[in-house]
Amino acid sequence: MNGRVYLMGAGPGDPDLLTVTAARVLRRAEVVFHDDLVAPEILDLLPAWAQVLNVGKRCGQACISQDRINSLLVHAARQGKQVVRLKGGDPLLFGRVGEEMEALAQAGVPFEVVAGVTSASGAAAAAKIPLTDRRFASKLVFVSNHGAGNETASWHDVVSKDATVVVYMPGPDYGRIAAKLTAAGLEGDTPCLLVARATRREQQVHRSTLAQLALQPKLPAPALLIVGEVTRARPAAAAEVLTALETVLSLEETTGGVEPQASSMHA
Ligand code: SAH
Repeated sequence: MNGRVYLMGAGPGDPDLLTVTAARVLRRAEVVFHDDLVAPEILDLLPAWAQVLNVGKRCGQACISQDRINSLLVHAARQGKQVVRLKGGDPLLFGRVGEEMEALAQAGVPFEVVAGVTSASGAAAAAKIPLTDRRFASKLVFVSNHGAGNETASWHDVVSKDATVVVYMPGPDYGRIAAKLTAAGLEGDTPCLLVARATRREQQVHRSTLAQLALQPKLPAPALLIVGEVTRARPAAAAEVLTALETVLSLEETTGGVEPQASSMHA
């Protein structure tokens, strides 16, 4: 029997955010190689017979190299197994999946890519903010804090006042990130959000500005930083209440203080 490798996104943590395809493939997985980032709630869904291996950076063993992971994938598939390479979020974003696809193609191992909900989408949904807004954010930039090369120069090319910037892997040194973003051209009063463990039970959201970012409490990993106008607190609900109140007050004025009808409050 031919084995196959599924390069799969597990989403940001909430099992409800697994795709239907991911859930179906996981139910018949025989070998699962997963990253640290895959939430325990997702690992709980794996079938009892599956061989499950953590190949993440914090797996407790000496760090497994990317080459070693590639050859484990090839080896398991050649044994005829249904193999899942399970990654947090979407596998195509900051997940080294390009190297795995190349290795599998070179070895002649058939593979599929199963897209996932990236943590930026999960975090924005959890924090109830848009990532773009035609009024003030027409660009969206996903950037890794662990890039190769001259990061400050490359951030300069992508950050701007009308862009939302999502920093993956911000690490614990928030002051350094803020300095990189301001060196790249953003103002200190630019609003931002730190979102830790998005969509999981222990999710935390902290609002700040770049100038205040260094003072924020260190949040548990995984966390990401969303920077830009979209993160500014917009008192939409409060504004609605005020409008309703103003309607009542103006009705009271015009009716000489007579109680307005309930229906007229919603007119
Ligand atoms: N492929 C992943 C990203 C991998 S890079 C995706 O699409 O989301 C790893 C980084 O993703 C982490 O350092 C963190 O910045 C972010 N991340 C992953 N899961 C997260 C979560 N549940 N909440 C907040 N950030 C998360």
